[in-house]
Parts: sequence; C-alpha cells; structure tokens
Amino acid sequence: MNVRDLIAKAEKRHVLERDEITVLLQGGDWDEELFAAADRVRRRYVGDAVHLRGLIEFSNICRRNCLYCGLRRDNRHLLRYRMDEDTIISLAIRAKEMGYRTVVLQSGEDEYFNVDRMTRIIRRLKALDFAVTLSIGEKSYAEYAAYREAGADRYLLRIETTDAALYARLDPGMDLAERINCLHNLKRLGYEVGTGSLIGLPGQSLASLADDILFFQALDADMIGTGPFIPNPDTPLGDAAGGSFELSRRMVALVRLLLPDANIPATTAMETIHPEGRILALKSGANVVMPNITEGEYRRLYALYPGKACADETPAHCRSGIEGKIAAIGRFVGKDYGFRHRI
Ligand code: SAH
Ligand code: SF4
Repeated sequence: MNVRDLIAKAEKRHVLERDEITVLLQGGDWDEELFAAADRVRRRYVGDAVHLRGLIEFSNICRRNCLYCGLRRDNRHLLRYRMDEDTIISLAIRAKEMGYRTVVLQSGEDEYFNVDRMTRIIRRLKALDFAVTLSIGEKSYAEYAAYREAGADRYLLRIETTDAALYARLDPGMDLAERINCLHNLKRLGYEVGTGSLIGLPGQSLASLADDILFFQALDADMIGTGPFIPNPDTPLGDAAGGSFELSRRMVALVRLLLPDANIPATTAMETIHPEGRILALKSGANVVMPNITEGEYRRLYALYPGKACADETPAHCRSGIEGKIAAIGRFVGKDYGFRHRI
C-alpha cells in the first residue's frame, strides 16, 4: 500500500499494522497530509474544544533513578522541595479563579505523601469541585483504590517505552511488567487512564514507537501524552541526542488517527524544543494543554529536563498566553471537566 493509502486507511478505520505505523513515523513529503488527517479526526471525534488542566508539581523528591530524569534520586545538583498541604490547596483555589476545572497533581515518587496525606488532599480538592488527576508514579493496588475512593478521577502513568530491554536499561530497579500491571489496576478501579511514551530515547527504534501506539490501543488508554526526550545535563544521559520535534509531531498525529476519541495533550516538552510546539501539536491531533500552575521558585526546581517552556512565567501569564494562541487557531477553551466521550 502506498503511504497516501495508509493515511486514508488510518483516517477511515483507525487501524494500522506495526510496519505501516513505522513507515509513517519515518516521515516524508506526505507529512502535512498526515497532520491534516489527524486534525480532521480530532475535529470529528473530540471537536474544537481544548481542555486546560492545571498542573501542580507538588514535590520533586523521588525514590526512583530513571536515567533520563532530573528528579532521579542520584541527582545531587537539585534543591529538593515538597509543598505542604495548604500550599497545594491555595494553588488550586487560584486555579479555580482562573477558570480551571481540572487539577493534575504531579510529583516524584515521594513516600512522604502516604495514603493518609494524599487522600486528605484529594478530598479537599474534590470539595472545591475539581476533576482530580494524579501523576505520582507506581503504587500498590490498595493505594490506587484508596485514592479512587477519596475521589480521584484520572491517573497519568506513562509507559515511557514498551521496549523491555530499553526500559530495563533506562529505569534501573523498575520492571516493565510491573508498570503495565499498574495501568491495568488503574483501569480496573475505574480511573480515566493516561499513558504515553518518551520519543527519541537512546537506542529506541521507530518500530518500538509503533509498538507503543499499539500498546495504547490495546490498553484502550483514555489519554495519551507523548513528547520528546530532552537530555538533562545533570543525568547520565546528558550527552545523548534528544527526540526530534517532527518525529514527536508525527507520533501525536498517529496516536490521534489510531485512538480517535482519546484526550491527547500538546505537551510542555514539545513547546520546549519548538517555539510553536504546542500549537503545532494542537493542529496535528492534540486537544488538551496542561499549563503549569505551580508558583514561584518551585517552577524552576521541578526540573525534569532543562529549558522547560513557561518555567519563568507566572501561572496567569502562562494561561493567558495559551488561551490567546488557542483562539488564534479558531479553537476555544473547553468549559466542562473534559472527560473522555467514547464514540
Ligand atoms: N514520577 C512520576 C511523575 C513525574 S515524571 C512518573 O514517573 O510517572 C513525569 C514524566 O516526565 C515522566 O513520565 C517522563 O516521561 C517525563 N520526563 C522525565 N524526564 C524527561 C526528560 N528528560 N525529557 C522529557 N520528559 C521527561
Ligand atoms: Fe522519578 Fe518520575 Fe523522574 Fe522516574 S520519571 S526519576 S519516577 S520523577
């Protein structure tokens, strides 16, 4: 089948074989057609609304040691922080005033935030009438159940890569099967489940990225956040080549074509490596943005990777900037909670 036929098949039937996805990931003079097809599918299935989720990075302390990440425990060049409960809630109240309906609580795997503390925070956020998303790593079934019970609606846990050998190399002490198990547990508990992968990891092939997309399909993921790996000089992968913007954009488009009704963020990492990264992602299949609503010094200290877009701005500035850009491309900010609607 020629590439144009592949794009047409994906647009119409939302299925592609592994080697067909790989061909499209390679890129070529058909790229604009791929992006346009993804944009049409986005419009047909999830409409013109862009959902904004306010991201609170509440602790940069992590017990894990992922080779690519600036929060890894062996990074001694980072001043560590954790917010207290009232600080988290006051950021959420400000988010509410700015119009957010969802907050995303993200952190390293910080054991200080045990079930007791987390469930208290979740309950307080639910009392403020937020949809609550957690992104706090691998936990036991019982912990996920307790958070769900307390009212958490969604959970983000990227698979990072489905290549088992690569995963073992980059995430020492972690196990791909265990991460998959976590995702299944979250599904079973009725969370809206988000996953995703890093693009351009050292040693990652296009075929392995194709496997990632097939994995998202098999899981029936509700949200899929993908973005380039950006080398962080304070990590063992500081000298590696990062992921390219164009490959990341093709990945967003293919995810939209193959999971047509999913919520797909235009990620901060895409904005970091390209000045119009988020908007281009929104025009190639994405329909969600997660502006950072962390305030002050914390924004800089949550240093997964260098140069993070928006890190030096205030939350209000960051939101109004993105709102203007959304309007400029003929889209609008969603007014509801932005749950997935299956079609
Ligand atoms: N500790 C939690 C959540 C925080 S990390 C977890 O790991 O799930 C959130 C995401 O940041 C990770 O899933 C990873 O995909 C991304 N990330 C980490 N280091 C990165 C880097 N150098 N470049 C781009 N993204 C990175
Ligand atoms: Fe910790 Fe998440 Fe970074 Fe891994 S990716 S070191 S789990 S914060």
